Amino acid sequence: MQIKTIMVVGAGQMGSGIALVAAQSGLQVVLNDVEKHFLDKSLEKLTQLLERQLTKGTISQDTLETTLSHISPSTTLEDVAKVDCVIEAAYEKMSVKANIFETLSSLAPAHTILASNTSSLPITELAARTNRPDRVIGMHFMNPVTKMVLVEVIRGIATSDETFQIVFDLALRFGKQPVAVNDSPGFVSNRVLMPMINEAICCVHEGVAEAEAVDQVMRLGMNHPMGPLALADFIGLDTCLAIMEVLHDGFADSKYRPCPLLRKMVKAGWLGKKSGKGFYEYGPGGDK
Ligand code: NAD
Repeated sequence: MQIKTIMVVGAGQMGSGIALVAAQSGLQVVLNDVEKHFLDKSLEKLTQLLERQLTKGTISQDTLETTLSHISPSTTLEDVAKVDCVIEAAYEKMSVKANIFETLSSLAPAHTILASNTSSLPITELAARTNRPDRVIGMHFMNPVTKMVLVEVIRGIATSDETFQIVFDLALRFGKQPVAVNDSPGFVSNRVLMPMINEAICCVHEGVAEAEAVDQVMRLGMNHPMGPLALADFIGLDTCLAIMEVLHDGFADSKYRPCPLLRKMVKAGWLGKKSGKGFYEYGPGGDK
């Protein structure tokens, strides 16, 4: 099956990026969110991103207009009737995603593949909420989607070989490098990355060093392009906490206990770059 149309559910930082790479690869994209203002914000951000590419001379005015014309906003999941594949990128909460998958499953054509960009949640459990577990799969993009090459492609227990191949090929079509991974809490990326970020937060919590110093150690000493706390702010502290909770619950192992400071910051609404404050402070344009 050749995918021609996709729906992206959730027009936040990840969903917006996924919609853009899909539109740039020539697909028709339905970009869905619960309210129009999320879609307006997303389309404004995507237009700015394309305008920057135009100024740099990497795309033409024609490409800019064609790309934007491939993205149609939607506030109803009923629009899934028009698409061959969905990539869900709503909040990292099983209750939210399970509801979306149940609804999509009842409204989508029989051939439609339901993929999730979840960072850590079980694909097998999402698949069980649908009438097509063989067509449910994880498609985990990295942030920022337009720049990062990796896509983890995660098979649930019932995912068919055909679904896997279609989604693997779709990632290649987006100009990404898909890597096959099995369904396990946090997959590979966040099982390795998130405990490191959590430990960096513990260093601040226990007064081992200030946030800036922790990041300096990892940038200058380990050659990381970005310190773990700047990265946590970039990912979103709510998403980091949600992933740690999935690891903690999924493995029932105290080594994945979320740092109390992470919980406290999320409760305070300090979510990082997206809320303007996290371990660092950010201006309206997102500058640190
Ligand atoms: P975000 O908070 O920026 O965006 C989430 C969007 O989903 C919001 O616009 C929200 O309105 C929308 N939404 C919530 N419920 C919805 C529903 N029922 N129907 C339609 N839209 C709904 O979050 P994000 O950082 O873009 O993360 C989205 C997903 O991508 C999460 O599962 C996250 O774990 C995953 N992810 C995040 C990163 C990252 O670095 N932030 C990286 C890889 C994967």
